[in-house]
Amino acid sequence: MSVRSDNQHNGKVVLTIDWEDWFHICDVEPFADPDKWDQFESRIERNTQRLLELLKRYDARATFFVIGELARRFPHVVKQVAEAGHEIAWHGETHHTWKTLDEPNMRREWIVGLTSFMQETGYRVHGFRAPMWSLTADLLRSHHDELVDLGLRYDSSLVPLAVVGNPAYPRTPTRIGSLMELPPTIVSFFGIAAPISMSWGFRWLPGWYVRWQLQRFARHNNYLMVAIHPWELDPDHGKLDLSRGVRFTHYAGLKNTYGRLEWLLQKKQAISCVDYVNTMEKSHDLLEFGL
Ligand SMILES: [Zn+2]
Repeated sequence: MSVRSDNQHNGKVVLTIDWEDWFHICDVEPFADPDKWDQFESRIERNTQRLLELLKRYDARATFFVIGELARRFPHVVKQVAEAGHEIAWHGETHHTWKTLDEPNMRREWIVGLTSFMQETGYRVHGFRAPMWSLTADLLRSHHDELVDLGLRYDSSLVPLAVVGNPAYPRTPTRIGSLMELPPTIVSFFGIAAPISMSWGFRWLPGWYVRWQLQRFARHNNYLMVAIHPWELDPDHGKLDLSRGVRFTHYAGLKNTYGRLEWLLQKKQAISCVDYVNTMEKSHDLLEFGL
């Protein structure tokens, strides 16, 4: 399904950065606990600088989904990101996954945390992404009115993948009431969903395949979203003793990220989520998400 009959977004990529450090691995204890963060070498500052320099070289704009607790520790870095023209959005208070928490704790990570963040920092936040894509369409719907009252305009948490989301979620933008839903780009390869725009898929799958599929998806759908972390540009960051699966998703192909991102920036004009929302808000081409 094409989200728009003309091709105004064919040459663009919605670029999203989950702004977290290399040890912010969801729900893997003890790394999820902010009290333990100080025992690891922080590399968020240098990796953000590197990323900002790359984005500047290509006049790219991105959305930075920030962790509240990390933003509190590095406010000058968040300020620098905002002053460089990028969008500041929300990625949770401490990077715990949301849908596994009880309602009060989920609210603390999601809505209460975000409200405090906006009050403390003055940033006007338009959207959010749950850590490790840990929202469901039902949760979004049940909190819809409160989110809209807070001024939120979009979510980017529903990933159409079985492992971390639901394969029935749409692969192109839709509406959930007054919110816009912006998914990362997932493609099918012989019937198997491949995360070519994020995580190990973007870094580890053969470069020709990732480049071909990203271009192809953008051409057919007038939409493309890529999701990167600052630590993915840093193959030399520390390595933790993780299970084999988590080790693969976090460490496979790290040395490829920078070059692939640079290729993307050469090919496509990078825009932020709110840039996309601004151009599409009045469009009648986005369907209501019915799942
Ligand atoms: Zn994250």
